[in-house]
Amino acid sequence: RLYNEVQELKGNIRVYCRIRPFLPGQNSRQTSIEYIGENGELVVANPFKQGKDTHRLFKFNKVFGQAATQEEVFLDTRPLIRSILDGYNVCIFAYGQTGSGKTYTMSGPSITSKEDWGVNYRALNDLFQLTQIRRNAVVYEVGVQMVEIYNEQVRDILSDSGIWNTALPNGLAVPDASMHSVRSTEDVLELMNIGLMNRTVGATALNERSSRSHCVLSVHVRGVDVETDSVLRVDLAGSERVDRSEATGERLKEAQHINKSLSALGDVIFALAHKNPHVPYRNSKLTQVLQSSLGGQAKTLMFVQVNPDGDSYAETVSTLKFAERVS
Ligand code: ADP
Ligand code: MG
Repeated sequence: RLYNEVQELKGNIRVYCRIRPFLPGQNSRQTSIEYIGENGELVVANPFKQGKDTHRLFKFNKVFGQAATQEEVFLDTRPLIRSILDGYNVCIFAYGQTGSGKTYTMSGPSITSKEDWGVNYRALNDLFQLTQIRRNAVVYEVGVQMVEIYNEQVRDILSDSGIWNTALPNGLAVPDASMHSVRSTEDVLELMNIGLMNRTVGATALNERSSRSHCVLSVHVRGVDVETDSVLRVDLAGSERVDRSEATGERLKEAQHINKSLSALGDVIFALAHKNPHVPYRNSKLTQVLQSSLGGQAKTLMFVQVNPDGDSYAETVSTLKFAERVS
């Protein structure tokens, strides 16, 4: 069963699109979503314009509609998590405009109820359940690193080591970032909370800051008796473009860095998807940190998040175009 599931993953880059439901107060009659196909087709249209020529068709590995549950989304992610134990590196992240559901998909609306859990927690839970079973007498060791990338500077947010700039991972680990041994999902959650608190000074600024910096959680899995050493990387937040037109000063600088790292990520995934001989990892700190979990033997999953609101049509099309370029 497991083997077949892993076999089903064609190619190493998958793109899942998820449409979030309308929120209370949003006018659900003005939607940009026209059609969702069984095989990953998505048709969007500008509800404020008439005529067929306003329709656009996109194709992804899968499209989750507004009714999709966290559990359903995870079921299609699970084979990827399982391939970590077979030695594959895995990288999962979400992309989309603010309010499109990135945090919801990756972390969930809350962690108190397991039903709400997003991909991050479910993945860790699954990983620990699998590693606790001694598969073929293999014992696994699991370690965690967490770094923040802000204005092209990399910082270990699980220790007080301050800002450093030399994140050039040759192997799986980010050098200079502390590695924390963990035995359960709870251990990781505790570290993630510490990391998220270290991320910024004021709690009120957390949301603000989370869209301006990248936070990368790396989970290292090593088979003690066998030659398995792999890493699960989850880019926790911030994979969104910042609108330059509204930015000045410090904000503009942040916007430029965010846009630069997202373009670099797009270029890397594009090169990998098209099997280009040169993959431009060096163009940003984000792609350097993610390098060992992107490309080669690694499997990558990008969630493309969409707000169904008609007013978001322009943003939606630009998000979908970015995603289509890499899929
Ligand atoms: P982002 O991280 O992309 O800015 P959020 O994940 O914070 O967006 O989502 C914005 C709002 O929409 C939140 O209130 C969130 O709870 C809600 N939301 C997002 N996706 C869903 C979903 N699939 N089901 C229900 N509510 C959702
Ligand atoms: Mg968010």
